[in-house]
Amino acid sequence: MMTRTGEHTMENEKQKVLIIEDEEAIAELERDYLEQAGYLVEIAGDGDSGLRRALEEEFSLIILDLMLPGVDGFEVCRQVREKKNIPILMVSAKKDDLDKIRGLGFGADDYITKPFSPSELTARVKAHLARYERLVGSVMQGRAAEQRNRIVEIRGLRIDKDARRVYVNGEEKTMTNKEFDLLTYLAERPNRVFTKDELFRAIWDMEAVGEVATVTVHIKKIREKIEVSTANPQYIETIWGVGYRFKI
Ligand code: CA
Repeated sequence: MMTRTGEHTMENEKQKVLIIEDEEAIAELERDYLEQAGYLVEIAGDGDSGLRRALEEEFSLIILDLMLPGVDGFEVCRQVREKKNIPILMVSAKKDDLDKIRGLGFGADDYITKPFSPSELTARVKAHLARYERLVGSVMQGRAAEQRNRIVEIRGLRIDKDARRVYVNGEEKTMTNKEFDLLTYLAERPNRVFTKDELFRAIWDMEAVGEVATVTVHIKKIREKIEVSTANPQYIETIWGVGYRFKI
């Protein structure tokens, strides 16, 4: 398969549904209808394998039978809910059970009583997936906005990534592009030791062949701008024989 990095292919990928159901005929009927509706469907025939697959694999939604051999539906729901926030549709033949567990708040998103019509199931799956997509979409947008606006602030040093400006105790310090990139790279990864080689590759985006001296020169320039005493740096520390570390 051809890999096209950077291209957004999610929209074209089919969503995957896991059915955890011990009655084979019911599981297959559900699968057939959901496949017709355009979903990829996997079946787990007992609670143990269903729970394991739900936790280890990537699914968009789970249809979960309540009465299962091995781990029952309650426990599967509880454990999946601890780790994942994908929609869980719980299914049972006993309406009383469903009413009871709804009251207990097991974390299922919906409860369906057997027998149900396949079109009802498909409609509910669609509705929950659409709602979930919207939720995930808005969370991702929020994170992206946060990322874009991020200001790095450590002990009087303030890096405004949007404006590409650096301040030390409120006073602006003029940086070249590479000085700014190098300082930001280190400040965003505090307490980690980087070799000059690693820093050169990260900032200059080239193989470091005899160019590591460039890093030393830039660190020296940055220190002259942000440190009170370059002999006793408070921000970028030299780890002799290794490289540099941004102190926290
Ligand atoms: Ca069952």
